[in-house]
Amino acid sequence: MIDRYIREGYLEEGSKLANAMRKVPRELFMPDRYVEDSYSDDPFSIPPFSSRGQTISAPYTYPLFYGPLELGEGDKFLEIGTGSGYGAALAREMVGAEGKVVTVEINPTTYRFGREKLRKAGYDDILAMEGDGSKGLPKEAPFDKICLTAAAPDFPEPLKEQLATPGKMIGPIGSTSRSPSVFGSGQDLILLEMDARGEEGRKTVERVIYVPLRGAHGKV
Ligand code: SAH
Repeated sequence: MIDRYIREGYLEEGSKLANAMRKVPRELFMPDRYVEDSYSDDPFSIPPFSSRGQTISAPYTYPLFYGPLELGEGDKFLEIGTGSGYGAALAREMVGAEGKVVTVEINPTTYRFGREKLRKAGYDDILAMEGDGSKGLPKEAPFDKICLTAAAPDFPEPLKEQLATPGKMIGPIGSTSRSPSVFGSGQDLILLEMDARGEEGRKTVERVIYVPLRGAHGKV
């Protein structure tokens, strides 16, 4: 799968992300019932297996998110939406010994699933918290990089405040309605770059479809 991503130009051979994807066994983060599908290009439902949509994101989404974010050595990284824990594990490999990964999950069942997967895969040095990530985690701020893995109408204000200057945040921004409308369904994956003076710039990376961000600054 990774060789194919490289051939197709999604991933660069020798990049931090390619190395991380080769190192972290995705099968350790899959629910038992889908283990055989660990290397197919799809998202899969994870506990509590509800239609409200906790998923392990499709593997190609990591190049989409972590590429523009330029996750690197020494970064303090916050992930909103732990899900399976796979994204946090990849990030842990990318930020190195000097970096730190903090991840927050709002659904208690998903949280227990993700935390257990991370523990079994040997990622004890990731700070995994249960709670409303739309409020960020002021105790641990500022963060050099923030990744929102659920869709919101806009970047939650507390997350902007907890971003370092300079810093980068990425996430699916736009409508979280499930039924396609005249505007189509899905969201824009937007990269927000905060410069050293706290001035904000935005770039649209791609069109994506994500489950809604819940909590105080989410949709519901
Ligand atoms: N990176 C994860 C993707 C998980 S899907 C993976 O690949 O496994 C998005 C997750 O965001 C879901 O588990 C959902 O429960 C969670 N979520 C939604 N709103 C949240 C919030 N306000 N705070 C924390 N997590 C949230």
